[in-house]
Amino acid sequence: MGGLTRLGVAGWPVAHSRSPAMHNAALRAVGLDGWRYQHLPLPPDLFAEAVRALPGVGFAGINVTIPHKEAALALADEATAAARAIGAANTLTFSGGSIHADNTDAPGLLAALGDERPRTAVVLGAGGSARAVVYALAQLGVAVKVWNRTGERARSLAGEFGAEAVQDLPPADLLVNCTSVGLADPSSTFKELPLRADALGAYACVVDLVYRAGGTALLREAKRTGSRAIDGVEVLVHQGALSFERWTGRAAPLEVMRQAARGTASPHDDPTARPPVPASSPATDGGRRGGGRR
Ligand code: NAP
Repeated sequence: MGGLTRLGVAGWPVAHSRSPAMHNAALRAVGLDGWRYQHLPLPPDLFAEAVRALPGVGFAGINVTIPHKEAALALADEATAAARAIGAANTLTFSGGSIHADNTDAPGLLAALGDERPRTAVVLGAGGSARAVVYALAQLGVAVKVWNRTGERARSLAGEFGAEAVQDLPPADLLVNCTSVGLADPSSTFKELPLRADALGAYACVVDLVYRAGGTALLREAKRTGSRAIDGVEVLVHQGALSFERWTGRAAPLEVMRQAARGTASPHDDPTARPPVPASSPATDGGRRGGGRR
């Protein structure tokens, strides 16, 4: 162990995750030389037992990704209201013999939005990431409409968080794609989603949680129509920054994390995701947020 304080990301599979690169760069940048962040490939049947053993071998906390987010919440001794409402945790902190669960996906999305807060939003999808996004927006008092391919799931999610399920997409301040559409095949975006490329101007800001090398068709078209575009790497960076701050008590070096997450290897915590957008690509709105925190 060598006296290291350890962090990591648990998933199955997880070898593709960009979180170790992003967090190790951040740890170096703030001078935490005795800390390391690593991949933790854990199959579901070993997850709970392995996680309970981690504090004993020097771990201060972990991120949790597919397929363990619900199991992470279930094994925790304490959880934030957000993690409980969303029904999933992406951040565990080990302290004083207990396990604390948090969900930084929801505030990560809000942090990626910056100071521009929407009054109305359309969320596409009703899976795990849509739950966090709808929760986060509803907490802000945003009027949220949810569309999903499987309408029943949209109705159930919307009902839980005081949103409204819709079949046709209305205009709104914000559009968030929480489906996996566009990941494998960019040409599918405007076929699988009820969106027209030339109508994206109806949304002042478009967030695509999906990210891939070369960017996504949704964000390309959003920029073409003059909307503000925020990519999935930016959301990943902000959720990671919030976890980092929780574990270390230090301000997260956002720009360092952004550069590392946009590095050369494959992205984050999504087993199906492709390599991230190159650093030179204008995947966000020109990086206008710089290195500042929110
Ligand atoms: P999930 O729980 O599996 O949900 C998938 C969603 O996509 C469901 O709403 C599903 O609709 C919809 N969908 C799948 N194929 C579709 C199609 N052909 N047409 C229309 N809708 C379709 O996944 P998740 O965890 O929410 O993740 C969704 C995406 O967000 C993934 O690509 C992931 O990489 C990305 N993500 C990014 C971040 C980040 O930090 N940037 C974080 C989390 C997730 P049905 O209900 O009808 O099946």
